[in-house]
Amino acid sequence: MTKSDIEFDRQHIWHPYTSMLNPLPAYKVESAEGCTLILEEGIKVIDGMSSWWAVIHGYRNPRLDAVAHSQIDKMSHVMFGGITHQPAIDLARRLLDLTPAPLERVFIADSGSVSVEVAIKMALQFWLAQERSEKHRLLTVKGGYHGDTFKAMSVCDPVNGMHHLFNKAINSQLFADAPALSPDDEWTDSAGQQLKLWFEQFHKELAAVILEPIVQGAGGMRFYHPEYLRLIRKLCDDYDVLLIADEIATGFGRTGKLFACEHAEVTPDILCLGKALTGGYMTLAATLTTKKVAETIGEGPGGGALMHGPTFMGNPLACAVATESLAIIAEGNWQQQVNDIERQLKKELLPLAKYSSVKDARVFGAIGVLEMNQPIDVASAQKRFIELGVWIRPFGRLLYIMPPYIISAEELSQLTYAMKDYVENQDNGTV
Ligand SMILES: *Cc1c(COP(=O)(O)O)cnc(C)c1O
Repeated sequence: MTKSDIEFDRQHIWHPYTSMLNPLPAYKVESAEGCTLILEEGIKVIDGMSSWWAVIHGYRNPRLDAVAHSQIDKMSHVMFGGITHQPAIDLARRLLDLTPAPLERVFIADSGSVSVEVAIKMALQFWLAQERSEKHRLLTVKGGYHGDTFKAMSVCDPVNGMHHLFNKAINSQLFADAPALSPDDEWTDSAGQQLKLWFEQFHKELAAVILEPIVQGAGGMRFYHPEYLRLIRKLCDDYDVLLIADEIATGFGRTGKLFACEHAEVTPDILCLGKALTGGYMTLAATLTTKKVAETIGEGPGGGALMHGPTFMGNPLACAVATESLAIIAEGNWQQQVNDIERQLKKELLPLAKYSSVKDARVFGAIGVLEMNQPIDVASAQKRFIELGVWIRPFGRLLYIMPPYIISAEELSQLTYAMKDYVENQDNGTV
């Protein structure tokens, strides 16, 4: 007897953060187009997740499809050691054009977590090259998320992250309190008091501060006051500490600015990009830094080599698609698209805060979040969402969406309607 595909999947394939013993149901997607996922039997659902912040220009985008096909006809991959190619050069040019001027040295990595590892290596090697090996620790704020590899995990939220599980294998880093003020709050200087104290106390051992600018994503979908970021930039300058901005989720317009650092008019020393970099077509990430950091590393021990070089570094197919995705970004329509999404999300989601099951409703750029008072039963919530024609993947107490930029007003309303349906059922005690 042959197992059905879904049964085989359930028994043999791990999905993100699931158990092999009693996994949550997985839905089989046959194809996708625009903002729509097409499931078995032709069931269509609108994707509210952009496949985790990535598919900003929609599925089967004709321009990205065309570039992918034409690159396959030349070469899909070639090693990057001792070899270069046009897609990598074009991508780096585009990245230099889009990012702040001081960021001009590019490492093309293969996933977001790896780009964070590379960023941290850059920071450590920067101080090693200056014979200041005592500067080896990282400071971050609670509530963050930076990926699932070990050094990245070490700077994820120490309570909600995986620290308890991997306690002995994770380096201890410094965690300042999560920013308490949201972008709309009035700034008070006391909010930055702890940061000031910690820099004063620990700067001699600090290599870098790493954080997600303005939007803390997978660690809790919270938005914080830009003044925190400005203060951290200033403290980094005053105390000789590098600033790593993890814009893997926020980069390329999601927050209403091209990069979230712009909300605070801050330029990091090291910048991590990923997720939407290829328009969500395939895995690719980049770590950018300044001439100064790159050249200082170059003067370091071991011939000054930056010690990283993944097999699929600079994959030409991914670089070609990313270059076209950035060309679409450079044309600028994202600004209007994100503004429109933000306006509509505010109109349709913020009023849901009045329901007793909702703790908080918040919107920032093209990100809409309902924080519930109770944890969400993902399996039953998702079953209902499919019936309502939407794909929304809650986690913990968070029901949130960050749709593709190309979404229509009608499609977006279908997503917010489903969120309202969930909230109403909670208040009525029917789910
Ligand atoms: C998703 C994410 C990462 C990790 O990227 P992967 O491609 O999943 O390894 C790192 N930092 C932030 C802010 C992210 O949102």
